[in-house]
Amino acid sequence: MMGPGNSQAELEDRSTGVSRIALLGPPGAGKGTQASRLAGRLGVPHIATGALLRQAVAAGTPLGLLARPYLDAGELVPDRVIGDLVRARVRRPDAEPGFVLDGVPRTLRQAEMLDATLLAFGRPLQRVVLLQVPPSEILERIARRGARSHRGDDRSEVVENRLRIYHVAAPPLTEHYRSRGMLVSIDGMGTVDEVASRIEQALA
Ligand code: AMP
Repeated sequence: MMGPGNSQAELEDRSTGVSRIALLGPPGAGKGTQASRLAGRLGVPHIATGALLRQAVAAGTPLGLLARPYLDAGELVPDRVIGDLVRARVRRPDAEPGFVLDGVPRTLRQAEMLDATLLAFGRPLQRVVLLQVPPSEILERIARRGARSHRGDDRSEVVENRLRIYHVAAPPLTEHYRSRGMLVSIDGMGTVDEVASRIEQALA
């Protein structure tokens, strides 16, 4: 049964349009906010590895126990662990029509694992959106978010580590997708609505 707002035309649109997307960008670039909006608009799940890991930590699962020291230090959880997490999540039926990945891939190795996983499912990534925000703005945004969210890893020394790691890992990652013609660079400055409409136009 189709629910309200799921007309046949919309479903057809979704099946032919771009619906398998990853958002890249430094911590604090607005990936979470934009990924959630985009996923809502496309009617596909928003898959955020950071949120999945924080849930696992809070629930005290084996994954959470393993991941916790990395999250606390702002270090990357090992690629293999992330590969397993994402594979399990994209395999779920709600991700069949598509997904918006947020916070993954973060390394070239993760990109290669993700490409292989999605290829095996016959549902390869279609676009990778790079949200670009200058470093001065990032620090300000994270300071504001830290004051609101009580995320332990928004403490300034941990933020510095997360930014350092991003700047090392990001160039080979973006190059991987640029060379495949999948990368879309978006100016992440401005209001949430402004950035969202830039993303929408770029994916249209
Ligand atoms: P985020 O919410 O995306 O900023 O992620 C918060 C933390 O979760 C990161 O600082 C890492 O410790 C961990 N994490 C999230 N996604 C990944 C990933 N794709 N690879 C490695 N670690 C990750």
